[in-house]
Amino acid sequence: MGLIRLLPRSGGAQPAVEPVDDATPEMPLEEEAVVESPVVSEPAHEPESAEVVPVASPSVQREGSAPTPQGTATRVIALANQKGGVAKTTTTLNLGVALSETGHRVLIIDLDPQGNLTMSQGLNPDVIERSMFDVLVHKIPISEIIEHREVDLAVASIDLAGAELALIGRERSLEKALAEVRASYDYVLVDTPPSLGLLTINAFVAATGVIVPVQCEYLSLRGLVQLENTLAMVRENLNPHVGVEGIVATMFDGRTLHSREAIEILEENFGELVYRTRIRKTVRYAEAPVKGSSVLKYDPSGAAAEAYRELAREIVAAKEAEDGAQARKHA
Ligand code: ADP
Ligand code: MG
Repeated sequence: MGLIRLLPRSGGAQPAVEPVDDATPEMPLEEEAVVESPVVSEPAHEPESAEVVPVASPSVQREGSAPTPQGTATRVIALANQKGGVAKTTTTLNLGVALSETGHRVLIIDLDPQGNLTMSQGLNPDVIERSMFDVLVHKIPISEIIEHREVDLAVASIDLAGAELALIGRERSLEKALAEVRASYDYVLVDTPPSLGLLTINAFVAATGVIVPVQCEYLSLRGLVQLENTLAMVRENLNPHVGVEGIVATMFDGRTLHSREAIEILEENFGELVYRTRIRKTVRYAEAPVKGSSVLKYDPSGAAAEAYRELAREIVAAKEAEDGAQARKHA
């Protein structure tokens, strides 16, 4: 299975990332591909296609465009990619712990019925009685299901699988639930399931930005177009401020041409949106959750932990630049 080859971008000199001063949400390239229903579920492991597709630049998180309801600078970041196994959960946990190491107040939310994030902190989703399901569907306060582990964790249980149906017409459930605790955190990271269904839509509606982990090995640019199309629809109807804030290349193996090509293709198409930090491939990321811990706790001085610290620094720097610009605007 080879990497998807891209057509050269039309207009050659056109930058992959558009200037950020335009308030109009950018539309995806392929209008006919825009979905009409809010639910765009994809199979977890969509067969890769060698098909050549033009790629839309995801809209950039526009400077100063995401005021939080309480007027705080809390960032709510959805970690999303409808493909499974790209390191959404690994990134949610390790990025969350890295952010908390530098003094930020962090909440991570498990919105995946598989409960991998919950498990990765040593909790068993099969025996959890109250979870994000009850928060979203029965409107119990989110504070009641938050566990204090390496960082605060809003847990998932197996019954979250039933939430997709229960959430029809309730795209704002997560946004509403977060209002209670939002001001208590600097970063809220939401781990989403491998689909673009209503759980993920809820995350997009609540989010100030989306980070897309992309596995270098099986780069699915078609998948990124689908994700951006869904986001465009959310922007149009539910949350005008949400956009892709960054793309993080995961499972990078610098020794293979394959991985290096994947990075090249990502940067060619998404430019500045691709974080400088590469998350390298190492078995440490699989070992740590078995011990119920992040890689930062499991192997604090290792390269795997350092990679997520570096990613956290990039994300914090971007936030501070944005907050600074916002403050100057209001001065
Ligand atoms: P997702 O949440 O997108 O399905 P996961 O975070 O669960 O993906 O990661 C899928 C699998 O890959 C897990 O077993 C995880 O431990 C492993 N993994 C994640 N990141 C890396 C990495 N950088 N190198 C090697 N394995 C990784
Ligand atoms: Mg996951």
